[in-house]
Amino acid sequence: MTTSIPSAGQRLSWNWSTLFFVTVFHLLAIWALINFSWANLAAAAILWWISGSLGIGLGYHRLLTHRGFKVPKWLEYTLSIFGTLALQSGPLTWVTTHRIHHAFTETDRDPHSPRNGTYWAHMGWIFRGKAQNQTWADMQRYCPDFANDPIHQVINKYYYIPTIVELHH
Ligand SMILES: [Zn+2]
Repeated sequence: MTTSIPSAGQRLSWNWSTLFFVTVFHLLAIWALINFSWANLAAAAILWWISGSLGIGLGYHRLLTHRGFKVPKWLEYTLSIFGTLALQSGPLTWVTTHRIHHAFTETDRDPHSPRNGTYWAHMGWIFRGKAQNQTWADMQRYCPDFANDPIHQVINKYYYIPTIVELHH
């Protein structure tokens, strides 16, 4: 399989919006510490589990990327929406990146190869690099099973909306 993404080791320009929002959320974490309450901690723990375990682990990763099991469509969309709450991009973008990662693990085309350094593999790749902005051509190539699903296209395009709704409550 070939891909049009550039070599992951190639350092590209900064993704300023990613850098901005990651900074803002860390500042909000300090604010949360000052305004500590057990109810807030419980809410954070529950949302962490919903977004990280159900959304990313079960939804984006095991279900959408690897098709490890089958669920009805409504549940697939629900898990996808849970995944958007982790702010790791929309399901189509995430799955495209992760399938490219598995197709080219630890080669020059792996978007977050540890061979490009621990910092790059852990977080550098989201601040620089194109993996968070997959092209439509790559989404269709790597996600032929759901790239044309209109509901998933909407969830992918407006992935930040559920987080804004969540922050309002
Ligand atoms: Zn995987």
